[in-house]
Amino acid sequence: MDHKTIDIFGWIHTGGEARGDLQLAEMERLASLLADATGTLSWEARGWVDRAVGGDEAMMLQLHAAARPLLTCSNCLEPVAVDLAFDRTLRIVADEVSAARLDELDPEIDAIAGSRHFDLLELIEDEAILALPPLARHDQCAPPGPLRDDADDREELPTGSLAALASLMKGGGSGGQ
Ligand SMILES: [Zn+2]
Repeated sequence: MDHKTIDIFGWIHTGGEARGDLQLAEMERLASLLADATGTLSWEARGWVDRAVGGDEAMMLQLHAAARPLLTCSNCLEPVAVDLAFDRTLRIVADEVSAARLDELDPEIDAIAGSRHFDLLELIEDEAILALPPLARHDQCAPPGPLRDDADDREELPTGSLAALASLMKGGGSGGQ
């Protein structure tokens, strides 16, 4: 199955299910935002028809994906692995006009226009870009070079206050039960 040109209407009406792994490097727009495009994104898609009140049918598409791409740490500028995941339910409608009308009627519903040559992988890439954290930073990041040099020029941190902090943390961990 070519996930870049699916008949999304037919696929949803037959209860379509699909899954796959995408190389991050294959998604050029996403890859341009990463520190390094190595790695993969695992995705799953499911389609179904929701028969809403009044007999109107709604074509639904659920997308789930997860990856662990490398972004650039905002502090030290080295690569840092981040969790990228999304789980989105979208309503597929016949065309852009219907999508715009539905968005106006109910902003809670994310409606997008389907097509008979629908690029599912492009939609997955769009959603992955939206789900990317705007800023990445190592959990325990060393200060950038110049700052560290400044600190070395001064005296070492007062060990007394560090020891006090360490004992405080220790006490906090074991006490209170
Ligand atoms: Zn860092």
